[in-house]
Amino acid sequence: MKIHAMENFRVVIIPDEPWWLSKDNLGMTQENFGKWSRACMEIIEQIKRHVDGFTDIYLDHDSREICSFCEGTWEEDDKGCPVCCQRAVDKWEEAQSPEEPKEATDAKE
Ligand SMILES: [Zn+2]
Repeated sequence: MKIHAMENFRVVIIPDEPWWLSKDNLGMTQENFGKWSRACMEIIEQIKRHVDGFTDIYLDHDSREICSFCEGTWEEDDKGCPVCCQRAVDKWEEAQSPEEPKEATDAKE
């Protein structure tokens, strides 16, 4: 069975628009990357002392599909059969076997 795993939890900080970011200085240039990097490092230093200089903080995480049996990354072959472990394959094959349609009473898992 496929489960949705959350990982790499982190707090993301969106810095204020810096004073140097004028309408004629918006380019994706090495100079601006350096300025953004220094601006973010300044915020980090500020946060280490006290919270200041940012617009928003929110919790974020990466997501990926994993197998509930082996916790490997969920991948399927071209028929939709999982490829990570035999238990996942067995469960998939069980779901593929033609049976009479059951009522929704078998809703476990
Ligand atoms: Zn698996």
